[in-house]
Amino acid sequence: MCSWNADCVEEIDAQRVLGYALFKDGKNTRLSYPLEKFHSDVAGRSFHNGRFIQRMREKAATLPNVRLEQGTVTSLLEDNGAIKGLQYKTKTGEEIKAFAPLTVVCDGCFSNLRRSLCKPKVKWPANLVE
Ligand SMILES: Cc1cc2nc3c(=O)[nH]c(=O)nc-3n(C[C@H](O)[C@H](O)[C@H](O)COP(=O)(O)OP(=O)(O)OC[C@H]3O[C@@H](n4cnc5c(N)ncnc54)[C@H](O)[C@@H]3O)c2cc1C
Repeated sequence: MCSWNADCVEEIDAQRVLGYALFKDGKNTRLSYPLEKFHSDVAGRSFHNGRFIQRMREKAATLPNVRLEQGTVTSLLEDNGAIKGLQYKTKTGEEIKAFAPLTVVCDGCFSNLRRSLCKPKVKWPANLVE
């Protein structure tokens, strides 16, 4: 985690994690993080993902060149094969167009928007049960 957002794990009830324990068929083993050469506060953190995201949003909002808008993106606005912005719906149902030199689409693994940009072959390379 870069130091700019390290404090986003503060005040969200994040728990220090020093490794993992694996349990199977009545047997168990420990996988410790190699922390010997680091400062005593260096450790993993286990936290509620939503709280962490909210902390990062709050932090981003403090930057002078950032303005947060909330809404559901209904479509990307394309001009001559290039994405020029997007159209989104606010909580009150108002449809707004926003334009930008760069549009970053990050609407998750069930993305509807990505489908209009490419034909992704989604793979599930790993499963982790915690
Ligand atoms: C149960 C569970 C446990 C996990 N545990 C871990 C873990 O311990 N460690 C780890 O590294 N990863 C974990 N993951 C995986 C991790 O959550 C995902 O890899 C990560 O959240 C993906 O981030 P993302 O930004 O691509 O998508 P998301 O986190 O899914 O974010 C997409 C966002 O886009 C929004 N959105 C979608 N469509 C629109 C739209 N049309 N307009 C506006 N907004 C839209 C969604 O509301 C959402 O806020 C876990 C996942 C699950 C389901």
